[in-house]
Amino acid sequence: MALDEYKRKRRFQDTPEPPPKLQKKSQHRFVIQKHRATRLHYDFRLEMEGVLKSWAVPKGPSLDPADKRLAMQVEDHPVSYFDFEGIIPEGNYGAGTVMVWDVGTWQPLKEEVKGKLVPASDAEGSAMLQKGDLKIRLDGQKIKGDFALVHIKSRRPGSKGTEWLLIKKKDDFVVHGYDAENYDESALSGKSMRGIAGDEGAAEWESNRKASRGPLKAQWLADAVAKLDKRNAAKRPTAKVSAASAEKAKVKKKVKR
Ligand code: MN
Repeated sequence: MALDEYKRKRRFQDTPEPPPKLQKKSQHRFVIQKHRATRLHYDFRLEMEGVLKSWAVPKGPSLDPADKRLAMQVEDHPVSYFDFEGIIPEGNYGAGTVMVWDVGTWQPLKEEVKGKLVPASDAEGSAMLQKGDLKIRLDGQKIKGDFALVHIKSRRPGSKGTEWLLIKKKDDFVVHGYDAENYDESALSGKSMRGIAGDEGAAEWESNRKASRGPLKAQWLADAVAKLDKRNAAKRPTAKVSAASAEKAKVKKKVKR
């Protein structure tokens, strides 16, 4: 079943995270969770096929079409993960603070005529996900508008093929120079990451924060992000997947969550 990996990675007597349970009907919700684990990232999750399809986005989603955000696909999560906010205790998988950074609804899109995106069916959405080119419209509190999730194929040996790009499409919701880090407020509780971590975690949070603002600890990820930055700076509106593949081939290890 779809949640096997989610189940395998966790001990549910030790973590407040919800148990693996497949939902019968999908309601087209999405959630973006800000997660301060080994390193800060944003977990982007789309409710489809009875689970939350999930990607870890190291730099967070952007409303700027010039940003092509690396998004590492991770294991499907149960739909009840949708409103999980709190602390995953030390020693557990993904230990750290989780904020419900944004919530809303989404729909799959298809190109009816060149350049014009219209709503697609769930079946068409699943087919696009399978194909590795999923276009979506998001209606959240922070993140709105049309996006593409594009699977990039890595040629590196041992690649798990989990690398995607999350790219804002041009529309009325574009914000140039957008930085998710400027919005540290839960869509669920209104709390900051510090508030969620509580007084006890505040000191640790400060030290983590400093670390995350400095050079990236994992060299492979620093390289991957730097290459994406370079390509974004070149402002090529249609990055070719083949070019991305060559760059991805140099990535050495998988993302740490
Ligand atoms: Mn995470």
